[in-house]
Amino acid sequence: MADLIPKDWMPDARMERIHVHWTAGRHAANATDRKSYHILVEGTGALVRGARSIAANARGSGLPPAAHTLNANTGAIGVSMCCMHQAAEHPFAGGAAPLLKLQWDTMVAVVAQLARRYAIPVTRATILTHAEVQSTLGILQRNKWDITRLAFDPSVVGAHPVGDRMRLEVAVALDGLNPAPSPALAPERLPRFRVQGVAPSTLTFRRNPAGEVTGALPEGTLVERLAMSQQWWQVRTPRGFVGWVSSDFLVAVP
Ligand SMILES: [Zn+2]
Repeated sequence: MADLIPKDWMPDARMERIHVHWTAGRHAANATDRKSYHILVEGTGALVRGARSIAANARGSGLPPAAHTLNANTGAIGVSMCCMHQAAEHPFAGGAAPLLKLQWDTMVAVVAQLARRYAIPVTRATILTHAEVQSTLGILQRNKWDITRLAFDPSVVGAHPVGDRMRLEVAVALDGLNPAPSPALAPERLPRFRVQGVAPSTLTFRRNPAGEVTGALPEGTLVERLAMSQQWWQVRTPRGFVGWVSSDFLVAVP
């Protein structure tokens, strides 16, 4: 998948999370949207750069951040899809500018590129929708439902089901973006596996066998096996993160 985001939109900064939103506006970005988010995805799939730099949201930047998530903007990149004007949650109605499949697909590519640029792992706690912030990060939000419904696919309902689908698609996009294995690893390719059988939950990622939890791998994540210790395997994710997981939920990829 080709890179979409111009390089100068992604300055050097230590970023920890990506939050994905919708604007609750029309399919084009307006001035308020540009102030609130770093990158906007319009209905045509075009990207619009926000008024505030991603680096302004880095911890200790001293600059006013893009305020996209209540009390959770530090370290967080805000990506938003321009849509859902006059939409309703119950009963669901997509409104005057429903979320389009093209916007969703573009958002996935944008999030994958940001994840690679800022070395942000694909976990529930690090790449999440606004609707997941309260339950996952424990930071109270004001009844935010972006994104609990997909106007183009009514079969997916709820904050985590939608978020898990987003992370799975981002992980798949990252597999395609991942650079070729380093020459040191060639010519022997490491055995590869996919996370399978954990959805709707995730596979716990640990510093040591049965050790401290450092992340969570969503269903479908592709990993390379580096080492084994009984049922614990040390694996590397598409983003290059190394940790230990239970082998019960890994299926070999030919
Ligand atoms: Zn939001």
